[in-house]
Amino acid sequence: MSFFSTENISVQLAPPVVRAVKKGHPWIFDKGLLKQNKTAQPGDLAILYDQKRKFVGIGLFDPESPIKIRVLHRGKPATLDRAWIEEKLESIFQIRADLINDPETTGYRLVSGENDGFPGLVVDRYEDTLVFKLDTVAWLPHLDQLVAVFQDLVQPQRIVLRLNRTVAAAPSCPAKLKKAGVIYGPDLSGPVIFLENGLKFEAEPIIGQKTGFFLDQRDNRARVGKLSPGKDVLNVFSYTGGFSLYAANAGAKSVTSLDLSRPALDAALNNFQLNAHQPQIAATPHHLICDDAFDALHKLAEEGKKYEVVILDPPSFAKKQVDVSGALNAYERLVSLGLGVLKKGGVLVAASCSSRVPAESFFETVARTAAKAGRPLQVIERTTHAVDHPIGFPEGAYLKCVFGRG
Ligand code: SAH
Repeated sequence: MSFFSTENISVQLAPPVVRAVKKGHPWIFDKGLLKQNKTAQPGDLAILYDQKRKFVGIGLFDPESPIKIRVLHRGKPATLDRAWIEEKLESIFQIRADLINDPETTGYRLVSGENDGFPGLVVDRYEDTLVFKLDTVAWLPHLDQLVAVFQDLVQPQRIVLRLNRTVAAAPSCPAKLKKAGVIYGPDLSGPVIFLENGLKFEAEPIIGQKTGFFLDQRDNRARVGKLSPGKDVLNVFSYTGGFSLYAANAGAKSVTSLDLSRPALDAALNNFQLNAHQPQIAATPHHLICDDAFDALHKLAEEGKKYEVVILDPPSFAKKQVDVSGALNAYERLVSLGLGVLKKGGVLVAASCSSRVPAESFFETVARTAAKAGRPLQVIERTTHAVDHPIGFPEGAYLKCVFGRG
């Protein structure tokens, strides 16, 4: 019996799309569909064929999105039953085995959407709480089955559902699901506390950014920790202080968290409190600056403030293709402001999470800006995603980060 309780519809694909699907691309847009045997409802299984009626794969139909079908399976015909889903999940959990078995880290991404073969579905774990984040209404009719599988495989205490804005606004989205909330287990009235490399953090799965925390920066935070002993560290776009905690725990001389959001800085303070039993953290002066990063960096430079490690981890500057050149300009301004407060020989850590900005353009912009400022960067390392954020298709690569001495 199929895992998916919805109808099957047959869809004939245009030849270029057949080639793309065979190569592993997970998305099929309207113009790729040549024929379908009936009108599809959200979440119907689309059986994909080429023009010679040869089987190509199986996907989930979303009539309300520009991405009409998200491919779940390709190759030989198969029944997408409960055993199929379980096997697929077990294999992606295997990739994360080191994290899953690490008692010091209880917050990570279990399922990373298209990159893990589950298009439109992200599942993050924070201690005993799972967060399902959906980018398509096509998973909504299958929520009960998904909850049951995760209950069996992961035994969470609770599951929170979050929908992206388009899904929440979609006509087929049931009113009771439009607002993020608990769909399984006890209610949640505050943050969930979890561990990352032995440090305690709070995450707000219902109201926080992303699913409550920026799990994708875990490895970069650890790298910052290694660079921080004895240093004055400035964490720009700090959110809840992830990089700051690692720096303090490693014995930074001082740490400054800078963010526009007061609640994010309050959470950073809470995170320092949660770890106050760690002697290095208790001993590190932690300063907060609640301001626009561009303005604040300008002011700090005017005051002659200097830091030995400066982290720039801004939000995505390019949501659409037309934003890319504006985003590169913003990175340029930011790097130049960051260098203005970086002590000579200090380390600049510059990250970009804009998927539309190619890694090479970002790295080139950072390097060119530094050279222009008379501070050519000696690159220590260029990094991408952590193991629980694999890159499964070109659009899945969004995070890039450069560590450079300037
Ligand atoms: N480095 C963080 C994640 C950063 S997310 C971590 O490791 O968890 C981006 C952050 O930038 C958000 O907290 C947001 O509040 C903040 N932000 C957005 N625009 C800003 C601006 N103009 N000035 C300062 N902070 C800003």
